[in-house]
Amino acid sequence: MDPVLARQTMVNEQLKARGIKDARVISAFLEVPRHKFVEEYLKYKAYEDYPLTIGFGQTISQPYMVALMTQALMPLSDSKILEIGTGSGYQSAILSRLCRVVHSIERISALASRARKTHDELGYFNIHVRIGDGTMGLAKESPFDGIVVTAGAPYVPEALIAQLGEGGKLIIPVGDENLQDLRRITRMNDRVKEESLGGCRFVKLIGKKGWTD
Ligand code: SAM
Repeated sequence: MDPVLARQTMVNEQLKARGIKDARVISAFLEVPRHKFVEEYLKYKAYEDYPLTIGFGQTISQPYMVALMTQALMPLSDSKILEIGTGSGYQSAILSRLCRVVHSIERISALASRARKTHDELGYFNIHVRIGDGTMGLAKESPFDGIVVTAGAPYVPEALIAQLGEGGKLIIPVGDENLQDLRRITRMNDRVKEESLGGCRFVKLIGKKGWTD
């Protein structure tokens, strides 16, 4: 299928039909070529309504889940965003179309290198991919307007809340290994507001403040 048509169909049937309405988010999904973020043999499935393997036991998330998290983050054109779990680099590519700068951390170096290469080939130069344990955040670049965690955490790592700026939002799946609750935590003055965005299933967030390997 023509990728432009495949993106249009994905947006209409998977995103708009499920309540993704933010016009900026929709236009990022129409722009970013998702098929460039999967291996050659899976390209024909790139715009389908499910996650796909990217090797190393990891996945590129379902398009709707990426859209839901992106919309919940409410990124603005001058926002500085942190993503934990670069994976294929697709979520950070979507965010890069909506914000000023995206920092992304990945614990598997081969995935980080591949994501960097894809971003470079597409000319998405406002994304900075680092190798490390994202459960500790990225203090030296904080505060962030938003943080999105794209792996399932057993609990909310404190460092991530501490690295949010005033009004900043943390989107994070929290739960056990099989099922998590997608949460949006907003920092307001010295308080936090927590909302549930529904159930989800992600691979494990592995790190000092996450699951053990
Ligand atoms: N956002 C990704 C995308 O667009 O393709 C999907 C991410 S995949 C569902 C989760 C990723 O989180 C995996 O690549 C995994 O290696 C990574 N991960 C797990 N624990 C991590 C940690 N503590 N720090 C950084 N990355 C981590």
